[in-house]
Amino acid sequence: MPKQAKFHGGIHPPEAKVTGAFEIQTAPLLETYVVPLQQHIGAPCNVLVKKKDTVRRGQLIAEPGGFVSAGIHAPTSGTISAVTTCTGPAGASVPAVELTSDGDDTPDDTLTPMDDWQNSAPDDLKKRIADAGIVGMGGAAFPTHVKLSPPPAKPIDLLVINGVECEPCLTADHRLMLEDPDKVLTGTQIIARILGCKKVIIGIENNKPDAIELMQTKAEKLEMEVAPLKVRYPQGAEKQLIYAVSGRRVPTGGLPMDVGAVVQNVGTAAAVAEAVLDGKPLYERITTITGTPVVKPGNWRLRVGTPLEAALTLAKGVHNDPAKIIFGGPMMGLAVYSLDVPIIKSTSGILLLNSDETSEFTSGPCIGCGQCVDVCPMNIMPGTLSVQIENERFDLAEAWHAMDCIECGCCAYMCPTYRPLVHHLKRAKAEIVARRKAEQNK
Ligand code: SF4
Ligand code: SF4
Repeated sequence: MPKQAKFHGGIHPPEAKVTGAFEIQTAPLLETYVVPLQQHIGAPCNVLVKKKDTVRRGQLIAEPGGFVSAGIHAPTSGTISAVTTCTGPAGASVPAVELTSDGDDTPDDTLTPMDDWQNSAPDDLKKRIADAGIVGMGGAAFPTHVKLSPPPAKPIDLLVINGVECEPCLTADHRLMLEDPDKVLTGTQIIARILGCKKVIIGIENNKPDAIELMQTKAEKLEMEVAPLKVRYPQGAEKQLIYAVSGRRVPTGGLPMDVGAVVQNVGTAAAVAEAVLDGKPLYERITTITGTPVVKPGNWRLRVGTPLEAALTLAKGVHNDPAKIIFGGPMMGLAVYSLDVPIIKSTSGILLLNSDETSEFTSGPCIGCGQCVDVCPMNIMPGTLSVQIENERFDLAEAWHAMDCIECGCCAYMCPTYRPLVHHLKRAKAEIVARRKAEQNK
C-alpha cells in the first residue's frame, strides 16, 4: 500500500453522505427526454437528426464537432419531436433534441462488443471510447479519448483511478465501486492498456471502508494498488490526488501528463468497460439525489436528458420547497433555476437545500486573516487576488497565478467576511483567457 502524501491546504466540511448505504435504482422509462447537444468541454456537436426521425437507444444523434468533443447518443428509442434549445445546468441556452419515447427501448447495434479487447490495438480501443461519447464522469466532462492521447514526448507510467468522491453529500461513485467493482476494474485495465501503463493506483477516501476492502481484494489479483486516503477536500482534484497517492507534484500551469500520470474517475472506467465489452454508448449515469428537503434520497441510474422535475419525482418529491437546487455537490456544484434542466453526462448529484442551509451573507472587506491562504490547495493567495480582481488588475492576477485556481471553494468556505472569492477567481480566469486570445489574434 503506498504511503499517503498530504497535499497542502484543503478542508473537511461535514460529509453528509446519507445515501451511502442506498443501492442504485434504475429509473423507469420516461415519455420525453430533452437531450442537450453540448455536454462536454470542447467543440459543440453537430446535430444529425431532424423532427419526426425515428431513433434507437444508443444511436448517435449529434456528432463531435472536432477532436476535443464527444458525440451524443439517444437515451431511448422513439421519435424526435423537436430540434430545439434548453437551459443547461450552467444556465445558458444550449441546442437540444426532444425525444418522445416509443416505450420499446430498442437498442441500436452500431457498436458491437469487442470481445477480444485484450488483444485489440490501443488505437482501436481509444476509437471505441470516442465513438461511445465518453467524457470524464467526475464532473469535468472532458472527452476521455483526448485525455488518453498524450503526445509521445509525455509517456505515462502511472494511471490513477479516482474513487475519492470528496464532495460532501455525493455517493454515486461509492455505490458503483460496491455494486459493480469488476466493471470499474475492467475499464481500468482497458485504460491502462491504451496508455501502455503498468502501474495503477486506485485512490479511495477512508470514509468508504467497505469499498476499500472490496476493491482491494479484487485489485490485488490484477496487480493494482488501492490507496486508502485520509478524508480531505478537494482530494478528488487531479493534482491533489496524484500527489496524495504518489508524491508527484504537477508543476504550476502543468498537466498530470507532465509527471507521467493520467487520472480517470471510477465512473469513467465503468463507462469504458460498457463501451468496449457491451458496445454501449454513454447515455446514462449514476446520480445521487439528496438533501434535507428530499423525501426519499437515493442513488439512481438516470438517462441523459431526464428533466430535473422527473428525477425529483423518483425521489418522491420534496417535503417543502427548497431554497436552492444544485447539480453536483455543495462545494463545486452549479445552482440551477428551472425544473426543466436536464441531467447530463456529468451530473453526479442533485442536491436540494433548505433556506437555513443557504443563508445569504453580505460580504465585507478582506481583513487579511490569511485563512484562505492556509486552505488553498493550489498555494495561491485568494484574498490578495480578490482585491486585485475587484480593482480589475487582471495583469496582476495573472502574475499571481489566478489561472492555477481549481475553483474548489475552500477559500470561500473559510473566509470570515464572506468574500465571493471563487466568483472573483472565475472572473479573473475568464478575463485572462479572453486577453490571451485577443493577444494571439493581433
Ligand atoms: S483560490 Fe481557487 S484553488 Fe485556491 S482555495 Fe480558492 S477556489 Fe480553491
Ligand atoms: S479569508 Fe477572507 S478575510 Fe481572510 S485573508 Fe482571505 S479573503 Fe481576506
